[in-house]
Amino acid sequence: IVNGSNDSDKPRDKLLEGLLTADFDEDSCLSRYQSSLYRKSSAYKPSEYLVSKLRSYEKLHQRCGPDTEAYKQATKNLGHDDENHANKSVGECKYIVWVAVYGLGNRILTLASVFLYALLTERVVLVDQSKDISDLFCEPFPGTSWLLPSDFPLMKQIDGYDKGYSRCYGTMLKNQTINSTSIPPHLYLHILHDSRDEDKMFFCQKDQTMINKVPWLIVKANVYFVPSLWFNPTFQTELIKLFPQKETVFYHLARYLFHPTNQVWGMVTRSYDAYLSRADETLGIQVRVFSRRAGYLQHVMNQIVACTQREKLLPGLATHESQVTNTSRSKKLKAVLVTSLYPEYSDNLKNMYWERPTSTGDIIEVYQPSGERFQQTDKKLHDQKALAEIYLLSLTDNIVTSARSTFGYVAHSLGGLKPWLLYQPTRGKTPDPPCVRAVSMEPCFLTPPTHGCGAKKRVNSAKVVPCVRHCEDLRHDGLKLF
Ligand code: GDP
Repeated sequence: IVNGSNDSDKPRDKLLEGLLTADFDEDSCLSRYQSSLYRKSSAYKPSEYLVSKLRSYEKLHQRCGPDTEAYKQATKNLGHDDENHANKSVGECKYIVWVAVYGLGNRILTLASVFLYALLTERVVLVDQSKDISDLFCEPFPGTSWLLPSDFPLMKQIDGYDKGYSRCYGTMLKNQTINSTSIPPHLYLHILHDSRDEDKMFFCQKDQTMINKVPWLIVKANVYFVPSLWFNPTFQTELIKLFPQKETVFYHLARYLFHPTNQVWGMVTRSYDAYLSRADETLGIQVRVFSRRAGYLQHVMNQIVACTQREKLLPGLATHESQVTNTSRSKKLKAVLVTSLYPEYSDNLKNMYWERPTSTGDIIEVYQPSGERFQQTDKKLHDQKALAEIYLLSLTDNIVTSARSTFGYVAHSLGGLKPWLLYQPTRGKTPDPPCVRAVSMEPCFLTPPTHGCGAKKRVNSAKVVPCVRHCEDLRHDGLKLF
């Protein structure tokens, strides 16, 4: 099945302009080379520099990954009481371990951020496999694995790493326990919503001189910290070469890294073929509700209707059966994909368009794949459904997403779409205006450092570099690239 657009006569670009390597067996991960069948041809091309950097990263990962001499060497003394002994050889490779915490949207954003940091610093990314990551995603690097071996020496301790840990970078900085002459064999980076500025500044040039020498970094993160990497001039030079179109960072990295497993891909394609492929136009609406307040459902419902009609994403309703204008014009079929933990939003929308005709005569079909009611992160099928829905949303023509939801950020950014963001309702009211069109498709860094890398604390972090601004959905907060 080919996307509804006229792309079918173009040769299929299954390697996404060289972003993907051809070195994988196709059947083991169907989504990797089939995704191009479901997407419109892309307006955003990866730079040659990014492509060459990815190919060299793949070689580095093969040289340093699990089951290599280099990995053995690097883990030999890790976690032993005497790991601090000077001149213990750790080998030629440096690593960054990504630990799975929080929901799926958070995980996808942070894994992409950690991978970009690894590209910039020539580290190898290994992912914590104690959660269901391998039921969700295929291996992204050929001839090796990105899964952290389960006998990794620090495995048992990682769960307990927090701000209070003596090797937490922010804590060491705060307590001035960093000594440039003795480099610790591992450091913990805490990049969560409750991080202190000290934790969030690990990427700054002065901090990097020490961190760069540490063989193992362990990261727990739940925020998309990519925008702040621009604050480091060395990184910035490199980033501009990698991503001449600045708002395409997550877009390219996500298409390179995240390939749903065959099980998830089956869910994506079955939904797509049954509900979206025949439509003339598709609209995704992601409804994330962070409040249990009474009446919330109705406020948000009103907001969805107000936003989609005001922005002409969906037609209004005719007041009488006979009042439909333009009857001669051929009726368009618009498919609306709704994703939410709650089925009520799509039920309401479906009823609305069944009970009354649209003013344009267009036919509206509403579909919601699941309504799981509550978040069940780390339950395999629940997470697989969540990923399938994020992916399906990314295949729509236009998208409306909820403010401050990383689930929504991943969906629109992966799709290369500038979303309409539904403001978060406050004080039990439908916000007016109900939504805002994003200026770029990049995800938002929800809890960025308050200032740049310099010592001046009064510098607004949205004013430090020209390509980074506050997020549309947070009004005067957050950071995003544009
Ligand atoms: P965020 O909390 O909105 O930033 O997004 P996360 O993805 O990090 O966490 C929310 C989690 O709740 C998801 O990972 C899912 O497990 C679940 N969830 C929230 N909204 C939906 C939805 O629309 N569909 C499905 N299937 N799950 C959802």
